[in-house]
Amino acid sequence: MKATHIEHLGIAVANLQAAIDYYENVLGLKCYAIEEVEDQRVRTAFFKIGQTKIELLESTSPDGPIGKFIEKKGAGIHHIAFAVEGLQGTLDELKEKGIRLIDEKPRPGAEGLNIAFLHPKSTGGVLTELCEKPNREK
Ligand code: ZN
Repeated sequence: MKATHIEHLGIAVANLQAAIDYYENVLGLKCYAIEEVEDQRVRTAFFKIGQTKIELLESTSPDGPIGKFIEKKGAGIHHIAFAVEGLQGTLDELKEKGIRLIDEKPRPGAEGLNIAFLHPKSTGGVLTELCEKPNREK
């Protein structure tokens, strides 16, 4: 596989509005989208910095993945997301290499991307997301 760039960093926050205030008023970034991903039980806020985005994640349910993460580890960096080309092919290749996959098939994520997660046990402890832009042109 070849990761082309860091697509985004996912950051778990306890309070989305307080976190947005920090990124806007202290870091001078602009929140350009807020989106609820029902499937993941999160509300997300997006910022762009260069080619990379920051994805703030607030849980909408205590037993969702972000709710559990915050309960265990507190707020903070949750995952790193790399852009790849050919997500399904990449997943097949990684599986062959013995990398533990959380998602064996791409699924829809925020911002219309196709995404899949790799297990932190196989990635040096960092929850890793792979994203691909769906090919709408073709
Ligand atoms: Zn993400």
